[in-house]
Amino acid sequence: MTAPHLLIAGAGIGGLTAALSLARRGIASTVIEKRTGFGETGAGLQLTPNSGRVLDALDLALPLKRVGVASHGLMIRRWGDGKPIVEMPADPARLPTPFRLLSRIDLHTILLDAARAMPNIRFIVGRGVEDVRQDEAGVTATLASQNGGETLHGLGLIGADGLWSRARSLTGDAAPPEFTGYEAWRAMVPTAAASLAGEKPRVTLHLGPQRHAVHYPVSSGRQINIVVLRQAKEAREGWTRAGDNAVLTDHLAAGSSALRQLAGAATGWQVWSLFDRKPAAMARGRIALLGDAAHPVLPFLAQGASLAIEDAGVLARLLAEHLAREGAAGVPAAMAAYAAARARRVARVQEASRQNGRNFHLGWPWSIGRDLVLKRLGPDGMRSRYGWLYDWRDASGTEAG
Ligand SMILES: Cc1cc2nc3c(=O)[nH]c(=O)nc-3n(C[C@H](O)[C@H](O)[C@H](O)COP(=O)(O)OP(=O)(O)OC[C@H]3O[C@@H](n4cnc5c(N)ncnc54)[C@H](O)[C@@H]3O)c2cc1C
Repeated sequence: MTAPHLLIAGAGIGGLTAALSLARRGIASTVIEKRTGFGETGAGLQLTPNSGRVLDALDLALPLKRVGVASHGLMIRRWGDGKPIVEMPADPARLPTPFRLLSRIDLHTILLDAARAMPNIRFIVGRGVEDVRQDEAGVTATLASQNGGETLHGLGLIGADGLWSRARSLTGDAAPPEFTGYEAWRAMVPTAAASLAGEKPRVTLHLGPQRHAVHYPVSSGRQINIVVLRQAKEAREGWTRAGDNAVLTDHLAAGSSALRQLAGAATGWQVWSLFDRKPAAMARGRIALLGDAAHPVLPFLAQGASLAIEDAGVLARLLAEHLAREGAAGVPAAMAAYAAARARRVARVQEASRQNGRNFHLGWPWSIGRDLVLKRLGPDGMRSRYGWLYDWRDASGTEAG
């Protein structure tokens, strides 16, 4: 009997985690990546314990420790004078799974290296999935090509092809993502150039009217990732475009001096337009969607990549269970079980992210009420508020709290 074989569209964080999670369970895959290279642009990621546990189970804790920074908690400051609103300290040594801060490219490289080391993962790079057909036996994907479409066969297809997912439009949701009116500016600052002496390695948020900024150390502490959110009139598709320093300086004019100094030390700002989209049906027959393809998450809760990783872990587990019990015929049931297991959680995280965005950007006088609530919650209140998010475990596909 030949080993089961799945197709995965997209070699981003979700697609690679899915390939690895399947490979570790003896299920082969072909990962098809549209881009010609794997270079991820310089930006940071907060990798929270809920997804960290999935990666630890893939034996990635050690490489993650080498490049990441274990966060000492969260500090929320006022925009104008930088005064603390609330601090949520965390002792990384006491957390069973660390709250990791790292650069996207480091995470992507770790996943890619691990996937390349697996004999049952094959890559096709520089070719996008254009079309997918399915029947009782499996799926046939057509790849984009100048000389007529090449086709590939598998027992099923995992659409991990990001915000502008082709797989999603082929499974019945062709409505495009909606622009939120916000864009994110991201840059790296060499730690040596940042005036953050004495600051603990942690996530710092600055909340202002219709804007916020977040920064944290990455690359074993050698760099600080800074992200500034601002309103924008028009959207641009795609991952990134260069930002003009002068526009940002103007945007930060009323910000605290610490924030302005840090942003002033950054060069090479990259800008992302932020889009939102309702969750899709995450499975249709032998096709499943994961990560941004299924449910893009606004960055106000730092959960997009984490949800993609969770999705990948749950989907691989269910595919392995159904394939072991029912053989190739079990793939649609596995995909349906995955969609059912994930629907509530992804919708909750999406909504919590939107809600955070509304709270972060409140103007005066509503911001006074928000700050009072945060102060009153204090560190313990903040921790229990997010227990449902960070304590998630896959064992039952559900969440804690
Ligand atoms: C400003 C900002 C800050 C963020 N911060 C965080 C954070 O701190 N923590 C966090 O968890 N998340 C964060 N996110 C979200 C996170 O980056 C995304 O949710 C995550 O990258 C989604 O992963 P993915 O694998 O689903 O998609 P992607 O990473 O977009 O990967 C999709 C891949 O599919 C490929 N592809 C596209 N079309 C095709 C096709 N037709 N065929 C084959 N391949 C195709 C693409 O080239 C790409 O490589 C942030 C996002 C933004 C914008």
